[in-house]
Amino acid sequence: MTLNELVRPNILKLTPYTCARNEYTGEARAWLDANENSRIDGLNRYPDPLQTEVKRRLSEIKGVDASRIFLGVGSDECIDLCYRVFCRPGIDNVVAIDPTYGMYAVCAEINDVEYRPVKLNPDFSIDEEALFSAVDANTKVMWICSPNNPTGNAYPLEQLERIASRFEGITVVDEAYVDFSEQGSMLRHLDKYPRLVVMQTFSKAWASAAMRLGTAYAAKDIIDIFNNVKYPYNINILTQREAIKVLADHRHVADVADELVKARDVLAESLAGLDCVVKVYPSDANFLLVRVTDADSLYGRLKDAGVIVRNRSRVTLCEGCLRITVGNEDENNLLIEKIREYGI
Ligand code: PMP
Repeated sequence: MTLNELVRPNILKLTPYTCARNEYTGEARAWLDANENSRIDGLNRYPDPLQTEVKRRLSEIKGVDASRIFLGVGSDECIDLCYRVFCRPGIDNVVAIDPTYGMYAVCAEINDVEYRPVKLNPDFSIDEEALFSAVDANTKVMWICSPNNPTGNAYPLEQLERIASRFEGITVVDEAYVDFSEQGSMLRHLDKYPRLVVMQTFSKAWASAAMRLGTAYAAKDIIDIFNNVKYPYNINILTQREAIKVLADHRHVADVADELVKARDVLAESLAGLDCVVKVYPSDANFLLVRVTDADSLYGRLKDAGVIVRNRSRVTLCEGCLRITVGNEDENNLLIEKIREYGI
């Protein structure tokens, strides 16, 4: 399908809002175009609506042209935009692996779009035939999260490429946890697949969840449409400033991610030795999915001890499982101590 066939007709027709700071971007002696209050300095000016400086730096680090980068209020905004741009409420549908990140389903419901979950194999690999059997003429988006939340595994790039080339709609690969994986990113294949959207976030390896900044990388014509639909000043000035600082330190981010991966593997080994632990699943992310003898009871005991993990025991294929984020050394030690005290 061409992009024009995939985008909702009302969005294609849209005359986007042009804000004052879109119209004039040079130096000025007096900014009298945006009804701001220039009597008090500080946060009185609207931010750059297209976050030019953040994208310029991100573009250098990621090797992707700035015109192919969209910035959202977390990946969550990028996820919601996919529905608003591509899916006609009450008509279109999306297909997603199951289990996966919960917001794909929540945003589908909010946007009145049918959500078609396709169960993973018991080893959490993708059943490609089942995935494509769920597709019909109204399937606009396919959600693949890699490394996947909550299962923790990454999918081989060859498989992601196969899916992106076979699916005629928009393939989204959510790479929120990619920095913890040896798999590598689909970004390097962006040029090959005009309907591929790769999402990343500042919330995980970049340690900036409070900043609320997520990224979508795609062909320029998709990014242009996202920019037409987003709120004019979606990324506030504090976030833009902070992002520039964080990006300046990107080598440090990679080192911290490497350390975290080592800590994850140590934690996985410690957990595997505990009596109540049935299985620690391999992880390509910054968390571990752990099957235990009685998830509800261990979850409650940890909570009472002030150690909060995620009870995933009612999620497809994750029966009896807790999802545990790799913490700092003290947090990991406390977790192990409390599970040891719990016993079997
Ligand atoms: N994608 C996945 C797979 C996630 O697990 C999460 C958050 N846990 C997000 C996206 C959301 O990221 P953000 O904080 O950028 O909205």
